[in-house]
Amino acid sequence: MSQTPPPVNSFAQMQAGRPTGPLVQGYEVIIGFETHTQLTTQSKIFSRASTAFGAEPNTQASAVDFALPGALPVMNKGAVQRAIEFGLAVNAHIAESSVFARKNYFYPDLPKGYQISQFEIPVVQGGIVEFFLGDEKKSVRLVRAHLEEDAGKSLHEDFIGQSGIDLNRAGTPLLEIVTEPDMRSSAEAVAYAKELHKIVTWIGICDGNMQEGSFRCDANVSVRKPGAELGTRREIKNLNSFKFMQQAIDYEVRWQIEQIEDGHAIQQATVLFDPDTGETRSMRTKEDAADYRYFPDPDLPPLVISREWVERTRADMSELPRVMAARFVADYGLPEYDAGQLTQNKATAAYFEAVATASKQAKLASNWVMGELSRRLNSEEKSIEASAVGADQLAKLVDRIADGTISNNAAKQVFDALWTGEGQDVDAVIEAKGLKQMSDTGELEKIIDEVLAANTKNVDEVRAGNAKAFNALVGQAMKATKGKANPTQVNELLKKKLG
Ligand code: ADP
Ligand code: MG
Repeated sequence: MSQTPPPVNSFAQMQAGRPTGPLVQGYEVIIGFETHTQLTTQSKIFSRASTAFGAEPNTQASAVDFALPGALPVMNKGAVQRAIEFGLAVNAHIAESSVFARKNYFYPDLPKGYQISQFEIPVVQGGIVEFFLGDEKKSVRLVRAHLEEDAGKSLHEDFIGQSGIDLNRAGTPLLEIVTEPDMRSSAEAVAYAKELHKIVTWIGICDGNMQEGSFRCDANVSVRKPGAELGTRREIKNLNSFKFMQQAIDYEVRWQIEQIEDGHAIQQATVLFDPDTGETRSMRTKEDAADYRYFPDPDLPPLVISREWVERTRADMSELPRVMAARFVADYGLPEYDAGQLTQNKATAAYFEAVATASKQAKLASNWVMGELSRRLNSEEKSIEASAVGADQLAKLVDRIADGTISNNAAKQVFDALWTGEGQDVDAVIEAKGLKQMSDTGELEKIIDEVLAANTKNVDEVRAGNAKAFNALVGQAMKATKGKANPTQVNELLKKKLG
């Protein structure tokens, strides 16, 4: 049984029934992604050389990576394991048997003259990635994900006018994840890429380091009049930051529309984005699959994956972000937005759960984790694991707000004291700083009477129906209590006294 990947023009049929996206100058934007994720194995996909980043050139390449005659590839089981985990995470089919193929082309950083990849029968087939774009739910269908080896790097030393080849990266395992052309705007494309990034880092198959090239996106972009056939695409290569991704696609869309409006046809091409100019420029006109002379690699047997292996992997996998987010909505009654934010990474989710279970105040816990805590972490560029305020103390803080001991404002002062190390314990800080809300109604009533006596002009205005004057009195009363009164209580007492 041969499962051939869809020929390019069948993408058009698969777009039937998809909603039209937002128009740009009367054109619909169509985007499909190919993402190269470097897998987190210690050693390479077909050799025992290390995959660690940043070593001296050519110190981490073996005979296989150098393509010495007679050296034979041996499949790394860890790479297959990670492909299975990805397939399960996106509800794809894991092929019982998939095939490695040679993709033939010449490039100095590819000494074999071919890249080992998968062509007709990839290891992961189909699948879906779901995410929110604002509050709109989106789903992008995957065509496939296949295992392949990374190439080496050409290094150009301009100052001595020489180029060299570093084969440390050659043979690093990649999982290339290919979508249908389902995205309809640069914003949706970025949201998809962020979701995919979240999935692969969450399940731990990729470290997600975009600067080091662990997660590289190619965006295929075309435009068409609504209802027309799919337009010719250009492929923007190696987008390794979410910011550049959006800029590159937006530029490319404007460029293509301008070409078409000027009466030129779009040529299928591979282009590069230059962050300095904000423009995309053509690298080469695009090859077709036939140019690569794909054929099954005789050095490698078919990759056979037993159903037991798949099921064992499924059983061992931890809860996925999307599933966890749904549970946060169901169990803690959180809004979907909060649940999505809190499941950006495992550590944040775990921290939130610890606060929510200890305090039984899920929404307040969510507000504090997403608000004050993440503001602090961001400004000091810390990860949540390094938070100066532990989940136990934040839970206590949230409790003290909920039971009316302190106001929200006072809670910020307590948080600050904990963060800076001025205090260690919530209750001790409240005590030391005298932040307890005034609970004695008698004392509060006395203060309010004084405020009313001192602000007779405001009182007259309130009686004449001026709401602003009422707020001014609330403010005066809060000030007189040094912020320790419960604002709701102040409001009520004032209303009572003013009739
Ligand atoms: P390649 O030759 O690059 O390996 P494929 O034909 O498999 O390519 O398609 C690669 C990517 O291009 C896929 O993500 C697919 O969704 C996308 N794509 C295909 N046709 C279009 C189109 N007309 N506009 C935008 N993207 C497209
Ligand atoms: Mg491509």
